[in-house]
Amino acid sequence: MRSGVCRPERSEGAKAAGWLLRSRRSLRMTALVLMLCLVGPVASAQQAPPPDFDALAREAGERLAEYLRVRTVNPPGNETEGARWLQQVLAREGIESEIFESSPGRGNLYARLRGTGARRPLILLSHIDVVPATASAWRADPWAGELRDGEIWGRGALDMKGEAVVELMTVIALKRRGVPLARDIILIANADEETGSTGAEWFAREKADLIGDAEFLINEGGGNQMDDAGQVLYYGVAVTEKIPYWLRLTARGAPGHGSIPRPDNAAARLARALGRIAAYETPLRVTPPAAQFFRDLSTRERDPRRRRWLADPAAAIRTREGRAFFTAELYYNALLRNTISITGLKGSDKTNVIPPEASAELDVRLLPGVAPAEFLRELRAIIADTGVEITPLRPDREASTSPLSGAVIDAIRETVDTMDPGALITTPMLAGYTDSYYYRALGIGAYGLDPFRTTVAEDRTVHGNDERVSLANLRFGMEFFYRVVERVVR
Ligand SMILES: [Zn+2]
Repeated sequence: MRSGVCRPERSEGAKAAGWLLRSRRSLRMTALVLMLCLVGPVASAQQAPPPDFDALAREAGERLAEYLRVRTVNPPGNETEGARWLQQVLAREGIESEIFESSPGRGNLYARLRGTGARRPLILLSHIDVVPATASAWRADPWAGELRDGEIWGRGALDMKGEAVVELMTVIALKRRGVPLARDIILIANADEETGSTGAEWFAREKADLIGDAEFLINEGGGNQMDDAGQVLYYGVAVTEKIPYWLRLTARGAPGHGSIPRPDNAAARLARALGRIAAYETPLRVTPPAAQFFRDLSTRERDPRRRRWLADPAAAIRTREGRAFFTAELYYNALLRNTISITGLKGSDKTNVIPPEASAELDVRLLPGVAPAEFLRELRAIIADTGVEITPLRPDREASTSPLSGAVIDAIRETVDTMDPGALITTPMLAGYTDSYYYRALGIGAYGLDPFRTTVAEDRTVHGNDERVSLANLRFGMEFFYRVVERVVR
């Protein structure tokens, strides 16, 4: 729709990550250029200038500090309190919402901003719960929503109350400005993402009638990676994710006294099985989303050898060096194979007692397109001991992939082109897991989009210590996210 000529110049302020410092005047200039660009055959009289993003970001900061103070640490989650907080913020704007508890105290919020219905709805999804925090290990109180040195501190600032507030303020800004919507916007905040996704699973199942008409969904799971110098490496939009397939292995044998060793010691039998698993290298497989991600990265790679490997990972993994390159990088390795991490171990709790039973838990993550039954056969062959019982701890699921093109992807491309011209946009697979799965399963095109741009060090504060988001990031994220959503729903 828009030609390159019409791209507003990227301001110095943006380059220096000094978004907040960018002058109002330059912002107005950007808005003016944008407006001029939009005045074409598709422009309508209803088109308004963009909102005052500085003001919106300030408001988002205040709301985020409040939301961080609502303790929704999971367990127990206590999400109804978080849902009520969201509800009263929406109510002040005249937006009605409903709270549905998937179990007592586990509230899920639903609100819908009506459009003309010309196109199918867009869902903005978040989760209300946060993981625990060890306050003594933090440099600030994780539950105070404190503003310090230009950053808002608190558990959930990045995962994901920060993004939830950006979603909330986007809906509010669209409502306040009376933006004509071709699609309804549905705001959903689910309970219990962090321990079992029971909120999203319940909501997608029990409230399917409320959301079944949706075409697209935006949720956490994306990642806009910055290097330590503040340069954006890429804007990553997650289109699929690996599926957890957690397993328990159990070996049994006769119990006895540790002073009289027995050949059928359950702990020893389990240890042999685990030894085989630990030594096993699952086959490397290049799935289409992984191939696309590496191809995208190859376009920015300076080293000719690495560029060649990234451009054609299927060929690269057939060579020793190419294989070593991909498997040495832990994240790349996880994108190219089903992975097995041995985690929980249980045997005897007494040194001198041979236990009747020993067990281990495996955190298995399957690539999209891999059937759990197929993986189970592979694992049984590796263990090669029918006496070791394998029990799946999660239901059988297979990941699906959202379309690599369409209205959401187009809107993200156009927005990045406007705000950060020339930056790389890619569609990585998530090695982790989000609530998007349950909505993808309903046929909704779900995308992981992060409003913020973060370094690897900042990413480590997620589920770690000192989680926080800068006001500059909030300012960027507010504009970035609003522009994407407005493009999708107009
Ligand atoms: Zn999260």
